[in-house]
Amino acid sequence: MIKFLDLHAVNKPYQAEIEAGIKEILDSGWYLLGKHNEEFCTNFSSYCGTKYALGVANGLDALNLIIKAYGFGGGDEIIVPANTYIASILAISQNGCTPVLVEPDPATYNINPNLIEEKITAKTKAILPVHLYGQAVEMQKLWELAEKYNLKIIEDAAQAHGAYYQDKRVGNLGDAAGFSFYPGKNLGCLGDGGAITTNDEALYLKLKALANYGSNVKYVNIYQGVNSRLDEIQAAVLNIKLKGLDADNAKRRKIATYYQKNITNPLIVTPCCMIPETHVWHVFVVRVKNRKNFMDYLEKSGVQTLVHYPIPPHKQQAYAEWNSLNLPITEQIHNEVVSLPISPVLSDDEMRTVVEVVNAYKVT
Ligand SMILES: *Cc1c(COP(=O)(O)O)cnc(C)c1O
Repeated sequence: MIKFLDLHAVNKPYQAEIEAGIKEILDSGWYLLGKHNEEFCTNFSSYCGTKYALGVANGLDALNLIIKAYGFGGGDEIIVPANTYIASILAISQNGCTPVLVEPDPATYNINPNLIEEKITAKTKAILPVHLYGQAVEMQKLWELAEKYNLKIIEDAAQAHGAYYQDKRVGNLGDAAGFSFYPGKNLGCLGDGGAITTNDEALYLKLKALANYGSNVKYVNIYQGVNSRLDEIQAAVLNIKLKGLDADNAKRRKIATYYQKNITNPLIVTPCCMIPETHVWHVFVVRVKNRKNFMDYLEKSGVQTLVHYPIPPHKQQAYAEWNSLNLPITEQIHNEVVSLPISPVLSDDEMRTVVEVVNAYKVT
Protein backbone atom coordinates (compact mmCIF):
# COMPACT_ATOMS: atom_id res chain seq x y z
CA MET A 1 0.00 0.00 0.00
CA ILE A 2 1.31 3.44 -0.92
CA LYS A 3 0.51 5.50 2.16
CA PHE A 4 -1.10 8.91 1.75
CA LEU A 5 1.48 10.32 4.16
CA ASP A 6 4.12 8.30 6.02
CA LEU A 7 4.87 10.57 9.00
CA HIS A 8 7.33 8.16 10.54
CA ALA A 9 9.41 8.28 7.36
CA VAL A 10 9.04 12.08 7.15
CA ASN A 11 10.63 12.49 10.59
CA LYS A 12 13.17 9.68 10.28
CA PRO A 13 15.96 11.77 8.68
CA TYR A 14 15.77 14.15 11.65
CA GLN A 15 15.50 11.47 14.35
CA ALA A 16 19.02 11.57 15.80
CA GLU A 17 19.03 15.36 16.00
CA ILE A 18 15.54 15.40 17.51
CA GLU A 19 16.48 12.84 20.15
CA ALA A 20 19.53 14.87 21.12
CA GLY A 21 17.41 18.03 21.27
CA ILE A 22 14.79 16.43 23.50
CA LYS A 23 17.44 14.98 25.79
CA GLU A 24 19.02 18.40 26.18
CA ILE A 25 15.68 19.91 27.17
CA LEU A 26 14.92 17.09 29.58
CA ASP A 27 18.32 17.60 31.21
CA SER A 28 17.96 21.37 31.35
CA GLY A 29 14.72 21.35 33.35
CA TRP A 30 13.41 24.32 31.29
CA TYR A 31 10.29 23.40 29.27
CA LEU A 32 8.40 26.54 28.32
CA LEU A 33 9.32 29.96 26.88
CA GLY A 34 13.03 29.32 26.76
CA LYS A 35 15.88 29.51 24.28
CA HIS A 36 14.49 26.98 21.77
CA ASN A 37 11.29 28.97 21.44
CA GLU A 38 13.27 32.20 21.04
CA GLU A 39 15.62 30.67 18.51
CA PHE A 40 12.80 29.19 16.48
CA CYS A 41 10.88 32.46 16.42
CA THR A 42 13.99 34.27 15.17
CA ASN A 43 14.65 31.64 12.51
CA PHE A 44 11.03 31.38 11.39
CA SER A 45 10.55 35.15 11.09
CA SER A 46 13.69 35.45 9.03
CA TYR A 47 12.55 32.50 6.87
CA CYS A 48 9.23 34.24 6.23
CA GLY A 49 10.88 37.64 5.83
CA THR A 50 8.93 39.26 8.66
CA LYS A 51 10.18 41.27 11.62
CA TYR A 52 8.42 39.10 14.20
CA ALA A 53 7.24 35.56 14.80
CA LEU A 54 5.46 34.36 17.93
CA GLY A 55 5.19 30.67 18.80
CA VAL A 56 1.70 29.60 19.91
CA ALA A 57 -0.01 26.32 20.74
CA ASN A 58 -1.62 25.56 17.35
CA GLY A 59 -2.86 27.09 14.10
CA LEU A 60 -6.40 27.77 15.28
CA ASP A 61 -5.05 29.72 18.27
CA ALA A 62 -2.78 31.71 15.94
CA LEU A 63 -5.77 32.97 13.92
CA ASN A 64 -7.92 33.38 17.01
CA LEU A 65 -5.29 35.50 18.77
CA ILE A 66 -4.78 37.80 15.79
CA ILE A 67 -8.51 38.58 15.62
CA LYS A 68 -8.60 39.03 19.40
CA ALA A 69 -5.57 41.35 19.35
CA TYR A 70 -7.29 43.59 16.81
CA GLY A 71 -10.30 43.71 19.12
CA PHE A 72 -12.74 42.56 16.44
CA GLY A 73 -16.06 41.18 17.70
CA GLY A 74 -19.66 42.18 18.24
CA GLY A 75 -20.79 41.18 14.77
CA ASP A 76 -17.82 42.65 12.90
CA GLU A 77 -17.55 40.94 9.52
CA ILE A 78 -14.49 39.10 8.24
CA ILE A 79 -14.34 37.91 4.63
CA VAL A 80 -13.12 34.35 4.19
CA PRO A 81 -13.18 31.71 1.42
CA ALA A 82 -16.18 29.36 1.61
CA ASN A 83 -14.00 26.32 0.81
CA THR A 84 -11.55 26.10 3.65
CA TYR A 85 -10.70 23.95 6.62
CA ILE A 86 -13.12 24.67 9.46
CA ALA A 87 -10.42 26.36 11.60
CA SER A 88 -10.36 29.50 9.42
CA ILE A 89 -14.10 29.94 10.05
CA LEU A 90 -14.01 28.96 13.75
CA ALA A 91 -11.38 31.60 14.53
CA ILE A 92 -13.79 34.24 13.22
CA SER A 93 -16.98 33.05 14.89
CA GLN A 94 -15.26 32.25 18.21
CA ASN A 95 -14.40 35.95 18.47
CA GLY A 96 -18.04 36.97 18.00
CA CYS A 97 -17.37 38.06 14.43
CA THR A 98 -19.40 37.04 11.38
CA PRO A 99 -17.63 35.01 8.70
CA VAL A 100 -18.67 36.26 5.25
CA LEU A 101 -18.17 33.40 2.82
CA VAL A 102 -16.79 34.03 -0.67
CA GLU A 103 -16.65 31.47 -3.46
CA PRO A 104 -13.26 30.29 -4.76
CA ASP A 105 -11.78 30.50 -8.22
CA PRO A 106 -12.25 26.95 -9.53
CA ALA A 107 -8.88 27.14 -11.31
CA THR A 108 -6.82 27.75 -8.16
CA TYR A 109 -9.24 26.71 -5.36
CA ASN A 110 -8.29 29.97 -3.63
CA ILE A 111 -10.67 32.84 -2.82
CA ASN A 112 -11.85 34.56 -5.99
CA PRO A 113 -10.44 38.12 -5.64
CA ASN A 114 -13.15 39.46 -7.97
CA LEU A 115 -15.99 38.43 -5.68
CA ILE A 116 -14.71 40.18 -2.54
CA GLU A 117 -15.66 43.83 -3.08
CA GLU A 118 -19.40 43.13 -3.40
CA LYS A 119 -19.31 41.55 0.09
CA ILE A 120 -17.73 44.55 1.83
CA THR A 121 -20.10 46.43 4.16
CA ALA A 122 -19.73 49.08 6.87
CA LYS A 123 -19.12 46.23 9.32
CA THR A 124 -16.27 44.59 7.40
CA LYS A 125 -13.02 44.70 9.35
CA ALA A 126 -10.73 42.21 7.64
CA ILE A 127 -10.11 39.75 4.83
CA LEU A 128 -8.82 36.34 5.84
CA PRO A 129 -7.33 34.69 2.73
CA VAL A 130 -6.34 31.02 3.01
CA HIS A 131 -3.36 29.83 0.94
CA LEU A 132 -5.13 26.56 0.28
CA TYR A 133 -3.35 23.33 -0.64
CA GLY A 134 0.03 25.14 -0.62
CA GLN A 135 -0.60 27.87 -3.17
CA ALA A 136 -0.47 31.56 -2.27
CA VAL A 137 -3.59 33.60 -2.91
CA GLU A 138 -3.42 36.19 -5.69
CA MET A 139 -2.91 39.09 -3.29
CA GLN A 140 -2.78 42.18 -5.53
CA LYS A 141 -6.54 42.78 -5.59
CA LEU A 142 -6.78 42.08 -1.85
CA TRP A 143 -4.10 44.67 -1.12
CA GLU A 144 -6.02 47.24 -3.19
CA LEU A 145 -9.31 46.48 -1.39
CA ALA A 146 -7.66 46.56 2.04
CA GLU A 147 -6.24 49.99 1.24
CA LYS A 148 -9.48 51.33 -0.24
CA TYR A 149 -11.74 50.14 2.61
CA ASN A 150 -9.21 50.24 5.46
CA LEU A 151 -9.31 46.49 6.15
CA LYS A 152 -6.76 44.23 7.82
CA ILE A 153 -5.44 41.22 5.95
CA ILE A 154 -5.05 38.15 8.16
CA GLU A 155 -3.42 35.27 6.27
CA ASP A 156 -4.22 31.66 7.04
CA ALA A 157 -0.85 30.19 6.05
CA ALA A 158 -1.36 26.80 7.74
CA GLN A 159 -0.96 24.90 4.45
CA ALA A 160 1.70 26.96 2.74
CA HIS A 161 4.94 27.28 4.74
CA GLY A 162 7.50 28.58 2.27
CA ALA A 163 5.17 29.43 -0.62
CA TYR A 164 5.72 32.69 -2.48
CA TYR A 165 3.57 35.41 -4.00
CA GLN A 166 5.70 37.65 -6.22
CA ASP A 167 8.90 38.16 -4.21
CA LYS A 168 7.50 37.54 -0.74
CA ARG A 169 6.74 34.44 1.21
CA VAL A 170 3.35 33.75 2.76
CA GLY A 171 3.28 35.07 6.29
CA ASN A 172 4.58 38.36 4.93
CA LEU A 173 1.68 39.18 2.60
CA GLY A 174 -0.71 40.88 5.01
CA ASP A 175 -0.91 42.49 8.46
CA ALA A 176 -0.48 39.21 10.34
CA ALA A 177 -0.51 35.50 9.53
CA GLY A 178 -1.33 32.27 11.32
CA PHE A 179 0.69 29.08 10.79
CA SER A 180 0.08 25.54 12.05
CA PHE A 181 2.80 22.97 12.76
CA TYR A 182 0.38 20.04 13.07
CA PRO A 183 2.44 16.91 12.26
CA GLY A 184 1.10 16.54 8.69
CA LYS A 185 1.76 20.13 7.57
CA ASN A 186 4.71 21.01 5.33
CA LEU A 187 6.55 22.03 8.50
CA GLY A 188 5.23 19.80 11.27
CA CYS A 189 6.25 19.09 14.86
CA LEU A 190 5.58 16.04 17.05
CA GLY A 191 2.23 17.25 18.37
CA ASP A 192 0.48 20.59 18.20
CA GLY A 193 2.22 23.86 17.46
CA GLY A 194 1.62 27.14 15.68
CA ALA A 195 3.02 30.60 15.01
CA ILE A 196 1.99 34.12 14.14
CA THR A 197 4.11 36.31 11.87
CA THR A 198 3.82 40.08 11.51
CA ASN A 199 5.82 43.23 10.82
CA ASP A 200 3.76 45.28 13.29
CA GLU A 201 5.64 45.74 16.56
CA ALA A 202 2.69 46.95 18.63
CA LEU A 203 0.56 44.04 17.42
CA TYR A 204 3.38 41.59 18.14
CA LEU A 205 3.80 42.84 21.72
CA LYS A 206 0.06 42.63 22.33
CA LEU A 207 -0.11 39.11 20.87
CA LYS A 208 2.83 38.02 22.98
CA ALA A 209 1.07 39.11 26.15
CA LEU A 210 -2.35 37.78 25.04
CA ALA A 211 -0.92 34.32 24.41
CA ASN A 212 0.62 34.27 27.88
CA TYR A 213 -2.38 35.06 30.10
CA GLY A 214 -2.36 38.69 29.02
CA SER A 215 0.92 39.18 30.82
CA ASN A 216 4.39 40.47 29.95
CA VAL A 217 5.59 40.52 33.52
CA LYS A 218 4.85 37.48 35.63
CA TYR A 219 1.63 37.89 37.66
CA VAL A 220 0.88 41.30 36.11
CA ASN A 221 -2.06 40.96 33.69
CA ILE A 222 -2.78 43.77 31.29
CA TYR A 223 -5.26 41.82 29.10
CA GLN A 224 -7.71 38.98 29.63
CA GLY A 225 -5.41 36.62 27.77
CA VAL A 226 -5.26 32.92 27.05
CA ASN A 227 -2.65 30.20 27.50
CA SER A 228 -1.26 29.41 24.06
CA ARG A 229 2.47 28.71 23.97
CA LEU A 230 4.82 26.71 21.80
CA ASP A 231 6.72 24.44 24.19
CA GLU A 232 10.49 23.97 24.14
CA ILE A 233 10.40 20.43 22.74
CA GLN A 234 8.22 21.39 19.78
CA ALA A 235 10.29 24.52 19.17
CA ALA A 236 13.49 22.44 19.13
CA VAL A 237 11.95 19.95 16.67
CA LEU A 238 10.79 22.79 14.42
CA ASN A 239 14.22 24.42 14.52
CA ILE A 240 15.74 21.19 13.28
CA LYS A 241 13.11 20.59 10.59
CA LEU A 242 13.01 24.20 9.35
CA LYS A 243 16.49 23.68 7.84
CA GLY A 244 15.02 20.97 5.58
CA LEU A 245 11.82 22.80 4.62
CA ASP A 246 12.95 24.21 1.27
CA ALA A 247 14.38 20.86 0.18
CA ASP A 248 11.20 19.10 1.33
CA ASN A 249 9.07 21.56 -0.62
CA ALA A 250 11.26 21.09 -3.69
CA LYS A 251 10.65 17.34 -3.48
CA ARG A 252 6.89 17.93 -3.30
CA ARG A 253 7.17 20.23 -6.32
CA LYS A 254 9.01 17.56 -8.29
CA ILE A 255 6.27 15.03 -7.60
CA ALA A 256 3.54 17.53 -8.44
CA THR A 257 5.22 18.38 -11.73
CA TYR A 258 5.47 14.70 -12.58
CA TYR A 259 1.80 14.14 -11.75
CA GLN A 260 0.70 17.14 -13.80
CA LYS A 261 2.68 16.03 -16.82
CA ASN A 262 1.87 12.35 -16.71
CA ILE A 263 -1.69 12.05 -15.46
CA THR A 264 -3.52 11.98 -18.78
CA ASN A 265 -6.75 10.23 -17.84
CA PRO A 266 -9.55 12.44 -19.24
CA LEU A 267 -11.76 11.57 -16.25
CA ILE A 268 -9.33 13.30 -13.88
CA VAL A 269 -8.91 17.08 -13.56
CA THR A 270 -5.41 17.91 -12.34
CA PRO A 271 -4.72 21.16 -10.48
CA CYS A 272 -3.64 24.17 -12.38
CA CYS A 273 -1.20 26.52 -10.73
CA MET A 274 -0.34 30.02 -11.66
CA ILE A 275 3.41 29.94 -11.04
CA PRO A 276 4.71 26.43 -10.35
CA GLU A 277 7.93 27.49 -8.54
CA THR A 278 5.96 29.36 -5.89
CA HIS A 279 3.63 26.49 -4.90
CA VAL A 280 4.53 24.18 -1.98
CA TRP A 281 1.97 21.43 -2.63
CA HIS A 282 0.72 20.70 0.87
CA VAL A 283 -1.67 18.36 -0.93
CA PHE A 284 -2.08 17.37 -4.59
CA VAL A 285 -5.79 17.63 -5.26
CA VAL A 286 -7.48 16.24 -8.37
CA ARG A 287 -11.17 16.34 -9.27
CA VAL A 288 -13.26 13.44 -10.48
CA LYS A 289 -17.02 13.00 -11.04
CA ASN A 290 -17.70 9.77 -9.15
CA ARG A 291 -15.35 10.21 -6.24
CA LYS A 292 -16.32 7.19 -4.22
CA ASN A 293 -15.84 4.91 -7.20
CA PHE A 294 -12.40 6.41 -7.89
CA MET A 295 -11.28 6.22 -4.26
CA ASP A 296 -12.44 2.60 -3.91
CA TYR A 297 -10.57 1.72 -7.10
CA LEU A 298 -7.37 3.38 -5.83
CA GLU A 299 -7.66 1.69 -2.44
CA LYS A 300 -8.00 -1.72 -4.16
CA SER A 301 -5.01 -0.86 -6.35
CA GLY A 302 -2.86 -0.04 -3.30
CA VAL A 303 -2.97 3.76 -3.32
CA GLN A 304 -4.25 5.54 -0.22
CA THR A 305 -6.10 8.83 -0.76
CA LEU A 306 -7.85 11.44 1.40
CA VAL A 307 -10.40 14.18 0.79
CA HIS A 308 -9.66 17.83 1.62
CA TYR A 309 -12.49 18.29 2.51
CA PRO A 310 -15.68 16.21 2.19
CA ILE A 311 -18.15 18.72 3.70
CA PRO A 312 -17.90 22.50 3.20
CA PRO A 313 -18.22 24.67 6.35
CA HIS A 314 -21.67 25.99 5.34
CA LYS A 315 -23.03 22.42 5.15
CA GLN A 316 -21.75 21.44 8.60
CA GLN A 317 -24.14 20.82 11.46
CA ALA A 318 -22.02 23.21 13.53
CA TYR A 319 -23.16 26.03 11.22
CA ALA A 320 -26.78 24.92 10.77
CA GLU A 321 -27.83 28.52 10.10
CA TRP A 322 -25.89 28.39 6.82
CA ASN A 323 -27.05 24.99 5.59
CA SER A 324 -29.39 26.46 2.97
CA LEU A 325 -26.82 28.89 1.52
CA ASN A 326 -26.18 28.40 -2.16
CA LEU A 327 -22.45 28.21 -2.93
CA PRO A 328 -22.30 26.03 -6.06
CA ILE A 329 -18.58 26.25 -6.81
CA THR A 330 -17.64 25.41 -3.23
CA GLU A 331 -20.10 22.52 -3.21
CA GLN A 332 -18.85 21.13 -6.51
CA ILE A 333 -15.26 21.27 -5.27
CA HIS A 334 -16.12 19.53 -2.01
CA ASN A 335 -18.01 16.83 -3.94
CA GLU A 336 -15.26 16.08 -6.43
CA VAL A 337 -11.85 16.57 -4.79
CA VAL A 338 -9.46 13.72 -3.99
CA SER A 339 -5.91 14.16 -2.67
CA LEU A 340 -3.22 11.84 -4.08
CA PRO A 341 -0.12 10.85 -2.08
CA ILE A 342 2.54 13.57 -2.06
CA SER A 343 5.30 14.08 0.51
CA PRO A 344 9.07 14.50 0.76
CA VAL A 345 9.42 10.75 1.33
CA LEU A 346 7.30 9.40 -1.53
CA SER A 347 9.73 7.38 -3.66
CA ASP A 348 10.09 7.70 -7.43
CA ASP A 349 8.69 4.19 -7.81
CA GLU A 350 5.66 5.06 -5.73
CA MET A 351 5.18 8.27 -7.71
CA ARG A 352 5.23 6.34 -11.01
CA THR A 353 2.85 3.72 -9.64
CA VAL A 354 0.35 6.39 -8.58
CA VAL A 355 0.33 7.77 -12.15
CA GLU A 356 -0.06 4.32 -13.74
CA VAL A 357 -2.93 3.43 -11.44
CA VAL A 358 -4.69 6.78 -11.96
CA ASN A 359 -4.30 6.56 -15.74
CA ALA A 360 -5.74 3.03 -15.79
CA TYR A 361 -8.95 4.15 -14.03
CA LYS A 362 -12.15 3.62 -16.04
CA VAL A 363 -15.77 4.15 -15.12
CA THR A 364 -17.25 0.69 -14.78
C1 LIG B 1 -4.34 22.89 9.78
C2 LIG B 1 -5.10 24.12 9.47
C3 LIG B 1 -5.47 25.05 10.46
C4 LIG B 1 -5.41 24.77 11.93
O1 LIG B 1 -4.25 24.34 12.45
P1 LIG B 1 -4.19 23.52 13.84
O2 LIG B 1 -2.78 23.60 14.21
O3 LIG B 1 -4.68 22.16 13.56
O4 LIG B 1 -5.07 24.24 14.82
C5 LIG B 1 -6.03 26.25 10.08
N1 LIG B 1 -6.27 26.51 8.78
C6 LIG B 1 -5.97 25.64 7.80
C7 LIG B 1 -6.24 26.02 6.39
C8 LIG B 1 -5.38 24.41 8.10
O5 LIG B 1 -5.10 23.55 7.12
